[in-house]
Amino acid sequence: MGQSTEILETVQMLKTFIDQRIEMGEESWVAKGLSEEPELKGPESLERFYDLIKDCQRCGLAQSRTNLVFGEGREDAGVMFIGEAPGRDEDLQGKPFVGRCGQLLTKIVESIKMSREDVYIANILKCRPPENRDPLPDEIGHCEPYLKQQIELINPRIICALGRIAAQTLLKTTASLSALRGKLHSYQGIKLIVTYHPAALLRNPHYKRPTWEDMKFLRKEYDGVVIT
Ligand code: SF4
Repeated sequence: MGQSTEILETVQMLKTFIDQRIEMGEESWVAKGLSEEPELKGPESLERFYDLIKDCQRCGLAQSRTNLVFGEGREDAGVMFIGEAPGRDEDLQGKPFVGRCGQLLTKIVESIKMSREDVYIANILKCRPPENRDPLPDEIGHCEPYLKQQIELINPRIICALGRIAAQTLLKTTASLSALRGKLHSYQGIKLIVTYHPAALLRNPHYKRPTWEDMKFLRKEYDGVVIT
C-alpha cells in the first residue's frame, strides 16, 4: 500500500470518528479540538441530549405517543426517581408523574425533606404504552440506553426505583418487588433502593407505611448514615 493511500485511509477514519461524535451531540468537543475531552456534564447536557432524541422512532410507541416524556428535574440531582412509563396525563403533558400519581410522588419526595425541584424524575420508557400495558422487552431494549445516558449525566448519589418494572429492569433481575425492597442495591456503582410505584399506592393505601419506611431508608443512605 502506498503512503498516500495510507494517509487517505487515516483521514477517512478520522472523518468517520468526528462525524460519529457530532451525531452524539459533541460538536463543542470537535470545535475545541481533539486534545480536549468532551464536556458531558454541565447545564446544557441534558437539554442537548433531549434535542437528540426528541423525535425518536426506535420502537413502535413512537406511532401512538402524543409527547415523548424525557424526564424532569435538576441536572445535578442527588436523588433520581425512576418509574415505569408515561401514562395518559404524562403523554398529554410531556412531563413525568403528573396527575394523581404525580401528586403522590411529590409527597413521597417531600417525605425525605426535599422538593420535586431538588430531584430528577424519569421513567424506563419515554413514550406511553397503549392502555398503560406493561412495557415489552424490545421497547425496554430500545429505550433503556437513553435512561442510562441520563443517569450518567446526572450522576445521582442514590436512585429510587418505583415499582417492579423499574426495579427489575435496572437491576436485571426477575426477583419480586417484595424481595427487592428494604435492601441496598447498586446500579453501575450508584446506590439504588426499591419501593412501590405511586399508582400501586393509590390502589393499595396499606402500602403507605412500608413506603414511608423505604423513604427513611433512602434518606439515611443518601446522607451516608450507616444502618446497623
Ligand atoms: S419508547 Fe423510547 S425507544 Fe420507543 S420511541 Fe419512545 S423514546 Fe424511542
